[in-house]
Amino acid sequence: MAQHPDARDVLITDLDGTLTEQDFYALVVERLLPSDAPDHFAAFRAGEVTHFEALRRIFAALADHDEDEVVEVVHAMGLQPNLAALVARLRAAGWDVVIVSAGCDWYIRHLLDAAGVDVEVHANPGRFVAGQGLVMQRPASPRFRSETVGVDKAAVVRDAFDRYGRVAFAGDGLPDLPAARLVADHRRFARGDLARAAADEGLPTRPFERWAEVAEAVLAEEPTSECTP
Ligand SMILES: [Mg+2]
Repeated sequence: MAQHPDARDVLITDLDGTLTEQDFYALVVERLLPSDAPDHFAAFRAGEVTHFEALRRIFAALADHDEDEVVEVVHAMGLQPNLAALVARLRAAGWDVVIVSAGCDWYIRHLLDAAGVDVEVHANPGRFVAGQGLVMQRPASPRFRSETVGVDKAAVVRDAFDRYGRVAFAGDGLPDLPAARLVADHRRFARGDLARAAADEGLPTRPFERWAEVAEAVLAEEPTSECTP
């Protein structure tokens, strides 16, 4: 359904648990917070706090830690190997990559910079402040802002349909579901909570273990006939 014959295509992707093996918040809880710390993510799952508030509290609990210690955890997330090369191949084939995250741009920038990857990122802004931990806020611009998640991933996907030809989406979490609903069945890549939630509402998904499989599947798509002059 390419609206513009010359439009590029786009793969919109979650980061934590999708482009990485592990979620940053989960590693923080496991490696840095005391074992008797409140389980903010369980409170989110129980509907007691928003996703944004759960993450904000977990990151604020890093107040007693040095930034270097936390950066070490960022690099233990298991980013997709050779990501820069995969992104370059996608670009050469007409597919841009856009990251949408309900997490914080502070650790996303650390990861992408280390991997030499430069792509569009929509995430909650944050900074590490000694004595306050990782301070995360909702985006300043209302354009893609969500009160509950911080970043409205579905709004990013809807915007992409205006600017791009084909739109694919990959994710693994509950905040990914509204965005995943919007794309064509064969361009909806899911694992984990997203795959289960999609199945619950009868939404087909394509499974993956590592993000490279999503990239290869997208690269294997035939060029759209609409793009042929
Ligand atoms: Mg995720």
